[in-house]
Order: sequence, then C-alpha cells, then structure tokens
Amino acid sequence: MFLSQLGPDQRDSAISQLGTEQFDILVIGGGVNGVGAALDAASRGLKVALIEAQDIAAGTSSRSSKLIHGGLRYLEQYDFRLVREALHERELMVSTLCPHLVKPVGFLFPLTEKFKERTYVGAGLALYDALRGFQRAMPWHKHLSQKQINEIAPSLRHDLVTGAIKYFDAQVDDARHTMSVARTAARHGAIIATQVSAESLIKEGKRVVGVNALDLESGKKIAIKAGATIMCAGVWSDQLHARFDLTPGYNVTMSKGAHIVVPGSAINSDAGIIVKTPISVLFLIPWGDKWIVGTTDTPYEGDRAEPCATREDVQYILDQANRVLEPKLRADDIIGVYAGLRPLVANNKSATTTKLSREHTVDRPAAGFVSIAGGKYTTYRVMAKDVVDRAVIELRRLTQESVTEKLPLVGADGYFALEQQKERIAQESGLDVATVTHLLNRHGSLISEILDLINEEPKLLGKLDVNLPYIKAEIVYAASHEGARSVDDVISRRTRLSFEAVNHGLHLADEIATLISPILGWSSKERKESVAQYTELVEREKVTLGALLEVNS
Ligand SMILES: Cc1cc2nc3c(=O)[nH]c(=O)nc-3n(C[C@H](O)[C@H](O)[C@H](O)COP(=O)(O)OP(=O)(O)OC[C@H]3O[C@@H](n4cnc5c(N)ncnc54)[C@H](O)[C@@H]3O)c2cc1C
Repeated sequence: MFLSQLGPDQRDSAISQLGTEQFDILVIGGGVNGVGAALDAASRGLKVALIEAQDIAAGTSSRSSKLIHGGLRYLEQYDFRLVREALHERELMVSTLCPHLVKPVGFLFPLTEKFKERTYVGAGLALYDALRGFQRAMPWHKHLSQKQINEIAPSLRHDLVTGAIKYFDAQVDDARHTMSVARTAARHGAIIATQVSAESLIKEGKRVVGVNALDLESGKKIAIKAGATIMCAGVWSDQLHARFDLTPGYNVTMSKGAHIVVPGSAINSDAGIIVKTPISVLFLIPWGDKWIVGTTDTPYEGDRAEPCATREDVQYILDQANRVLEPKLRADDIIGVYAGLRPLVANNKSATTTKLSREHTVDRPAAGFVSIAGGKYTTYRVMAKDVVDRAVIELRRLTQESVTEKLPLVGADGYFALEQQKERIAQESGLDVATVTHLLNRHGSLISEILDLINEEPKLLGKLDVNLPYIKAEIVYAASHEGARSVDDVISRRTRLSFEAVNHGLHLADEIATLISPILGWSSKERKESVAQYTELVEREKVTLGALLEVNS
C-alpha cells in the first residue's frame, strides 16, 4: 500500500530512492502529460519515478484556459476523431475519474444574424453533441431567442446579438488537477520529486539506461537508472533534445496564449460566452465569482519558465470581448493576468502556429528513450497511455495494459455522496456550507484530511482573506500533502491567488510563508527568501505588462 501524500518527508525519501533503486520507467516533466504517464505506468504495476525541474504543473499545465472540451473549433477543421476522443475524455472526467474537480459549464454562442448563421452554428453544435455518442453527463445544446438572451446575458449587446445557442463543456483548475494526478500516481507507488532537473542521459552503448539529474534544492547530483525514460517536457522538448544530443522526429513550436481575470460584476451573464475572432475563438469563462477571458495565439521565443502577457495581448483580449459586450470591459476592471505556452508539434518551424494540429506525437529517438509532445490538456490520459504503450516495448518483457480509464483520481471516491452531506459536514466542522462546497470541489473526499488538520489546530479554520474562499488549513495542507515547496507554489498553483487576488496576492505572501514554514522546516532567512522570490516574480511580470495593473494595486 502506498500513500498519496506529497510532503517534505516523502520528498526526502524520494531523493534517496532515485539514486539507489532501479526503475522500470523514469518520467521527465511534471506537467499533466508527465504525471499522466507516471500514473499510467505505475497503475500497470511498473516501478516508476518522475522528476520535475520546477513544481508540479509549473509549465503550461497551470496556464491553460482550464476547459475540458472537445474543441468546437476543430470541427471547422473536420478533425472529428480528435473531437470525439476529447468528448469521451470529458465525459469520463465529469462522471468517473475526477467529478470533484471537473465541472460542466454552459456557453452561449451569440448570433448576429437570424437564419444562415443559426443554421450553420446549430448544425455544428448538433454534430458536437452527437459525437459524444450515448454518453450524456451534459445537457444537449439549446437554441435561444433574443428575448431569452436579454434575460440570461444582459451584458451581450442588444443592438448586435439576435439570439444564441447554448451548449455545454467542462472546466477544471488545471494545476490542481495535475497535482491530483501526481498524488494518484504516488498512491500507486510512483516516486515523485520536484525541483529535480534532468541534466544528461546515462547510456550503455547507444541505449539510454537512465538520467543524470540535479537536486536543485541541495545541489546534489543523482544518477537515476531506468529501463525506459519518457520525456514529457512540453515546450522544453527542443531544448532537452539538444541537451541530450538526440535527433528528434519533431520540433516543438511555442505559441503564447494570455488570459485576463475580471470580477463577476464586470460581465452580467448566467453562462460563459464564446466569441469567434479573426484568428480563433475567445472564451469568457465563469471562474467562481470571477471571469477568465482569453486567449491569444502568438508565436513566442522568450523565456519558457516565465511567459508574460504584454499590453498588446491584454488590449487584444479587451477589444475582442468588447465586440459583443455592453457595458465594455475596461483595463481597470482587470484583477489578474496570466500567460502560457502551447507546445505545438511541427515538422517545419516556419509554419504559422495557429494552423498547426493540436494532436500529439510519440517519438523514440534512441533505444530506451521515448518522448511525447503536443495534444491538449483534455486528452492527457490518452497521450499518457500512448507514450507508455511505446515505452514498455523498450523493457523487452510482457507488461500489463493501461487501466487509467477505470481509475478515479484521489478525492473522487465518495465525492457524490459527500456532496449530498455538505450541510451535515458544515454543522459538525463549524465551517459554513459555502466553504464546505469550496473544499469538496478542490479536495473531494480528501476533505477529511483538511478537517483533521482543523481538529488538531482550530485556528486553521479561519479564512486567509475575507474576500477569498481559501481557509488557512488548505495552505498548510498544500505543503504537508500537496508537494508545495515555496510561497510561489502555494500562491500560483495550489491556490490560484496569483490571478484571483488583487495585486497577485502579494499582501498574503507573508502569512502564507508563516503557515508553511514549520511544515517545510524553514529558518527565518528561508521564509523571507521565499517571500522575496515571489515578490520579484510579480515585479518582473508587472514590468512586462507596463503600468496596466498598477491601478488595481
Ligand atoms: C493559453 C493556453 C490555453 C490552453 N487551453 C487549453 C484548454 O482549455 N483545454 C485543453 O484541453 N488544453 C488547453 N491547452 C493545452 C494544454 O494546456 C497543454 O497541452 C498541456 O498543459 C501540456 O502539458 P505538458 O505536460 O505537455 O507540458 P507542461 O505542463 O509544460 O510540462 C512540462 C514540464 O517539463 C518540465 N521540465 C522541463 N525541463 C525539464 C528538465 N530538464 N527536467 C525535469 N523537468 C523538466 C517543466 O518544468 C514542465 O513542468 C492550453 C494551452 C495554452 C498555452
């Protein structure tokens, strides 16, 4: 029996195991594809290790639009296979694998003309609904008149919008989901260590037999031995192929996508909104009591670890959203901004990134070494299965089949029953029902571990900030159970304060550091350094964004 807990003790023992044990599979990269591969391989009964150079989901997997969707716009590219596959994954996540994390969300497709557009978009959405087959976790699309739209979405321009079609997709806190997949992999025996970077390959002849890694916290070198190494490095793939002196079958082009976050009051609508733009689509997505609006799609060649939105990105998003909104969004409505990099698999670097396929590629550039890149968040499980299927051939022995289609993530077990008992949980715990709902939607049945912390230390029941839903116990838990190693890990990924709170949550950094310090065994110097590191990160982002966000500081 293994534990899903990712705390400091677990990391210490992971570091020592990495250097002393022989693994079947070593995964490089703790984005959704890497942790998905670790879970897939561990649940086949293989001995698995995963190393991540930063934090779980620190790359693209915390910076997406957070939609679990079939990809409506791929229908226009006649990519029916991709849409059907993604809709199947959407259904699995909402109903079985992680219903506590992945929730249905309705979107309005506004129409600006009465007949032709309604027929065209309606046919597309009927096909979208039909492609999911007999699976029915989400309602069928619905045609709405102008009168209905005025009631549902008063913020849509009455002079322009003649009606709409409402359809359903799903949404997720991507970083939290990726961390939950990592914990589920640990639950099935995978050894997981963050802040460990793959530096070079260990070879026997031409065969890759492991990786020389560096523990970035201690500076210690670790030689990790594995029958097969799987690289899931997203936009770092080209860089690592070069570092490892491999000739890959594909290149990864980077495309930047930015989002803005505005308060709930800035857009008056009971459903999300999707708007066609000249290059793609723009989503206005409900996010708790806020809205996430994006995204952009521009070629990118800067720093992979810290992609920043620019003033131009933000202006583009405002301009596109304001084509259909009245009153219009203003720059001083913006609470937060974030940007991410799409890893787009390309054979020809000069291709324009918008037109590249979102499908994934599995490659085997050397014996014992397999890599994967591309795809989308929604289909991570399929990608993980595909890359592990290829990697196990390198083990040259019989192995088990993937079982992840039937394997709920930690926290999913019993979620639907707990959801019906939230009043009772609230009464017994002293929390209000809204907070219990918030905890169930973030932790599922692992809420019991949060409640245990509160029983031990009742003051952890308090809110971190009266305007935000997080309680102090969740901050402690982030370090004790969810692998957070820094203030940035907690603010940017275990919670989403970096874009949900004003001024990137800087005013909360000190208190967060004080809460996690005893868990991580920090000295007062280390505590201050972690706060300073987050402050510097925010300052760098603000410089790139110009003075735009200063109005909200
Ligand atoms: C703006 C935007 C919006 C998107 N929206 C959606 C959406 O709504 N729905 C959807 O389905 N998909 C969406 N996507 C796509 C989706 O987010 C990505 O396909 C997915 O997150 C990629 O995951 P990954 O694991 O391949 O890469 P990453 O998450 O980037 O993971 C790669 C990891 O490798 C690590 N790494 C790099 N070098 C090393 C090393 N030397 N040693 C160890 N580790 C290393 C990195 O630190 C990183 O954590 C979006 C993407 C973007 C950019």
